[in-house]
Amino acid sequence: MGAMNGDVLIRGSAWDGQLRVFAVRSTNLVSELQKRHGAHPTAAAALGRAATAGAMMGAMLKDGGRLTIQIRGDGPLGEIVIDADAEGHVRGYVTHPDVHLPPRPDGKLDVAGAVGRKGFLNVIRDYGLKEPYRGSVPLVSGELGEDFAYYFTVSEQIPSAVGLGVLVGRNGLVEHAGGFILQAMPGADEDRLEALERTMAEMPQVTAQLSEGVSPEELLRRLVGDDLRVHPAPSPVFQCRCSRERVERTLLALGPEELAAILKEDGRAETHCAFCNETYLFERAELQSLLDRLQGAD
Ligand code: ZN
Repeated sequence: MGAMNGDVLIRGSAWDGQLRVFAVRSTNLVSELQKRHGAHPTAAAALGRAATAGAMMGAMLKDGGRLTIQIRGDGPLGEIVIDADAEGHVRGYVTHPDVHLPPRPDGKLDVAGAVGRKGFLNVIRDYGLKEPYRGSVPLVSGELGEDFAYYFTVSEQIPSAVGLGVLVGRNGLVEHAGGFILQAMPGADEDRLEALERTMAEMPQVTAQLSEGVSPEELLRRLVGDDLRVHPAPSPVFQCRCSRERVERTLLALGPEELAAILKEDGRAETHCAFCNETYLFERAELQSLLDRLQGAD
């Protein structure tokens, strides 16, 4: 990956520990999601913003952790689901990737119109040990950046600012994607936080900056100033957890009777992974050999 164009995720702190900061360039990840799901511009922007947040939230996890984000609004997109882990792996889908709405009066993609302004944002964090942690907030805008900020502030009680952007070109393809998350730690200087809010309001869009070649680190520097310490986190990358072996195990788990019924009625089994849009087909001979294995006739 070239340093200028590859996806990059950084995390760190600013103002001598008063802020926790994250920033990401997620263009390749979001392009891959768009390609896999054939997402039209508005759907790609919504899915991409959620995946960009997911990548950064993955970097907040301890090693071995995973998280799932579910966004269910009353708009035409249906549901957005993102999975991410601490190693930078991200996958996701949207129920209706063919949604594209007319642009807003300011020319931007109408993400809130596609997501809906009423609904929920759920986050499930799982370390595979205890009960998963679940947090949920109502949607407050549907543009997603504000919704994630509201989630952190209300559900995790960490006052946060979130910027998420996906730029789709005239050809309908994702050109730039990225974002940032700034989180105020207890005791953070109120005057500095107010100044930061003004800076954010006046700053150009994240994607406008990325398209000028601004790096995630420089993006953070423009927001919080030079009192910044950042470290690279694993680069976000699309990766699905499905595999032919997993589907095979699922088929075997059905048991001999159900497998025999599938063989008799359909003669084949087909499963589809919503996350990566992959289809796994098991033809008659393969199903028969699975059944033989279960019946010990091998
Ligand atoms: Zn998959």
